[in-house]
Amino acid sequence: MIMLDALAPDLILHNGSIYTMDAAAPSAEAVAVKEGRVLLAGASAALLPLAAPHTRVVDLNGRTVLPGIFDSHNHLMQVGVKLTRIRLDECTSPQEMMELVRERAKETPPGTWIVGEGWNENNFTAALPPGRLPTRWDIDPATDQHPVILMRFFNTDVVNSVALRLAGITRHTPTPEGGEIGHDAAGEPNGLLRAAAKLLVRNLLPQPTLDELKTAVRLGCAEMNSHGITSVVDPGLYPYEMAAYQAVWEEGRRARGELAGARGEGRGASGLTVRMNLMPSWHGFREEETEAELEQRARAVGLVSGVGDEWLRLGGLKMAIDGGTSSHTAFMYEPFAGEATVGDFNRLDPATLRRHFRTAQELGWDVGIHTCGDRAMDMVVDAFADVARAMPRPDARHNVIHAYFPSDRALAQMAEHRIAAVIQPTFLYWEGDMIFRDVGERRAANYKPARKYLDAGVVLCANSDIPSTVSPNPWVGLYALVTRKNNLGHFVAADQAISRQEALHAYTAAGAWLTREEGDKGTLAPGMLADLVVIDRDYFAVADEEIKEIKVVMTVVGGEIVYGRA
Ligand SMILES: [Zn+2]
Repeated sequence: MIMLDALAPDLILHNGSIYTMDAAAPSAEAVAVKEGRVLLAGASAALLPLAAPHTRVVDLNGRTVLPGIFDSHNHLMQVGVKLTRIRLDECTSPQEMMELVRERAKETPPGTWIVGEGWNENNFTAALPPGRLPTRWDIDPATDQHPVILMRFFNTDVVNSVALRLAGITRHTPTPEGGEIGHDAAGEPNGLLRAAAKLLVRNLLPQPTLDELKTAVRLGCAEMNSHGITSVVDPGLYPYEMAAYQAVWEEGRRARGELAGARGEGRGASGLTVRMNLMPSWHGFREEETEAELEQRARAVGLVSGVGDEWLRLGGLKMAIDGGTSSHTAFMYEPFAGEATVGDFNRLDPATLRRHFRTAQELGWDVGIHTCGDRAMDMVVDAFADVARAMPRPDARHNVIHAYFPSDRALAQMAEHRIAAVIQPTFLYWEGDMIFRDVGERRAANYKPARKYLDAGVVLCANSDIPSTVSPNPWVGLYALVTRKNNLGHFVAADQAISRQEALHAYTAAGAWLTREEGDKGTLAPGMLADLVVIDRDYFAVADEEIKEIKVVMTVVGGEIVYGRA
């Protein structure tokens, strides 16, 4: 019996409606997990008898189970850093902001920066006259021992007197170009810093410590788990951020007793609870870097895309070629709506782009490149295709991030060379009618055309790009893919809708393909990682409008419950 017990599952989820996304056995009532992987999926009556005394048995009460969500473009580290700061979004007066700073100051060593984010004077209408913004005199009562910076939701900071002093800002400080230093009637700086002037203080913020970044990783993981997200690609990281991921990964190994001499403190006690793929920042982040330095950086690591374990892996190199549509900085063929000329926003000429791709291709790196404009997209895909023809690497997983407006030529080449489209249905939903305002109806008809991508045979990966959007909520993203409706209820290229099955694939297995993990993730077939999400209603059966209302009941990663309970 002892031997049989040892072979028994660690976890059985039963009495549910389980969509495995495995074509061989697409639905099941129960799933059994052993050592972090799916052992079997099938009927409750068949699986329950496998339970041994140590087996955790969870009754799903008829709830729906899907494979865990793979958010294939998600700045989890940035989300975590934001979560370590004071959240000011809900504040209805400068007084409330001051009180939150005072609370934080009590637990913060003197001299340490206190950072808050998200205030919005539109919430202050009951407390302040219209147009009056919070000033340093509103927040100074909180502390005279800490520099304080409170960032508006956009474009403006207010800092306290300690911070102004540290930055050396006086009534005589010249206004930086493209910025504004706020003053009172007597000409004294009032703590408000707009646009470029923000840097006078922001540049003083110390780089986060390893401990702070580890906290950010843990907070970011917990946030993603609460949405049913079990895997993430974090793009554009610097070495000190990657080090923090490795430190948390190692904590997990220690907790699971996987390190020699270390005592296990219980599985899942700490460590990563989201499986991470890290994309090192490459071109487009430090403009001053020369081509030779960039090549050296790609070469110097020695390791390339795909190395790692089931928790932490090296993904592709992250590049960027242009800006975005809402800021009118995408590189387009025709001017933005209401503008007379086309702005020259490409940061890379075609020859340089090819040389960069060639370096990556030769070394074995995958490349993911931020590309928003239609003209930028043709340039990028042409360059990928040329390099793929000249130096074939059939297993490359290059991809176009954002991929807003593909031409027919781009679609054909992406399909031929297996270049993935990495798109954000979250933008489609939360940006309302902005796309019509920015590019007009005709071009908006080709905005993130999911149907076209799939019909052309292009790998389509869906994701949130949090914190560039409101929430990582994948259910809103799935809703946008299935209905093509934005948050105003308006259709954005209605003929580009895809099926629920296709949308879920884009949010699960397609991400796994992108990171070379299609053998481990994307379905709940036997042998796959036991990453799954339990939701409060049936994604495949509810009315379209209800998809965005789906709530996560429980998230399981590697057979461990990391969020909620059944
Ligand atoms: Zn991004």
